[in-house]
Amino acid sequence: MAMDVVDLRSDTVTRPTAAMREAMLSAAVGDDVYGEDPTVNALQQRLADDLGFDAGLFVPSGTQSNLLALLSHCERGDEYLVGMDAHTYKFEGGGAAVLGSIQPQPIVQDEDGSLPLARIEAAIKPVDPHFARTRLLALENTWHGRPLPLDYLRAAHDTARAHSLGLHLDGARLFNAAVACAVPARDIARHFDTVSICLSKGLGAPVGSVLLGSHALIDKARRWRKVCGGGWRQAGMLAAAGMHALDHHVARLADDHRRAAYLAGRLREIAGVQLLGQYTNMVFVDVPAERLRELDVHLREAGIRISIGYLSTLRLVTHLDVDDDGIERTAAAFHAFFARRG
Ligand SMILES: *Cc1c(COP(=O)(O)O)cnc(C)c1O
Repeated sequence: MAMDVVDLRSDTVTRPTAAMREAMLSAAVGDDVYGEDPTVNALQQRLADDLGFDAGLFVPSGTQSNLLALLSHCERGDEYLVGMDAHTYKFEGGGAAVLGSIQPQPIVQDEDGSLPLARIEAAIKPVDPHFARTRLLALENTWHGRPLPLDYLRAAHDTARAHSLGLHLDGARLFNAAVACAVPARDIARHFDTVSICLSKGLGAPVGSVLLGSHALIDKARRWRKVCGGGWRQAGMLAAAGMHALDHHVARLADDHRRAAYLAGRLREIAGVQLLGQYTNMVFVDVPAERLRELDVHLREAGIRISIGYLSTLRLVTHLDVDDDGIERTAAAFHAFFARRG
């Protein structure tokens, strides 16, 4: 029998559980472009109610959800303020500029992912034909696993509002932040006009994100979803997976966080591994650059996959498909490798 692979590259690699697949098979469906898919409607309304918004929009990906939010907040020639390393700015193909003629104004972030308020204020353009119109502040939470501090969110909200900016949250892993901060997700969401949530990361659904906002913003986003080719039909089978995830996979994110903390502790013991940090379900370590390839081969042979990032920094991500045994195997494989002479 093939060895079970412990895949720590990302929490996107989760596969639907048997119970989730059953929920998908038995989902009531209709045509969502007509607004008639009962399962899609229920998922959208449930998240909107839970997080304190009027409405939600179920979309295929987090990238599309963020794009639709930007298109709904901003017109052609408007500008949004965004972290220099934010997913929305850096890892989404420049979609807001490509498809919306929206200018990003990147802001250098602090170590914890926050955009310093003074830098936000300094970047807001005067109302003058020379400048793009600054319309929106976009934040990301969690940030490389880190929950943004709640008092920072409040302060960022107040600063943005003082300048009449809208606020969007890329909350791909909002529930990880909520679980880690031990607050309801709505206490984070309340500082924003729109929030995008991924169901396909740690929550374990195969596909899907939901954008939340006011009726007016979600109506705009629905139109843009159609324009982007994202109008879908009997999507209730996918929404059912999202519903199942919300019912069964939110509280258990604490298990992923506990496993990440345990793994960080085991890796810290190893001479040759430098623990850079552990936040929610992510562990970051540095290993000697010259041993990186060899380590990757060693781990693959032990049935462990990791993602090798910039230089010698590794990111290990825990999720639904990684259990205690998988974490023990990973720790043991690292110990064995570094016990060999380099
Ligand atoms: C994964 C992710 C997204 C969206 O990703 P998709 O792969 O398009 O679903 C957006 N923002 C952050 C921070 C993410 O981690």
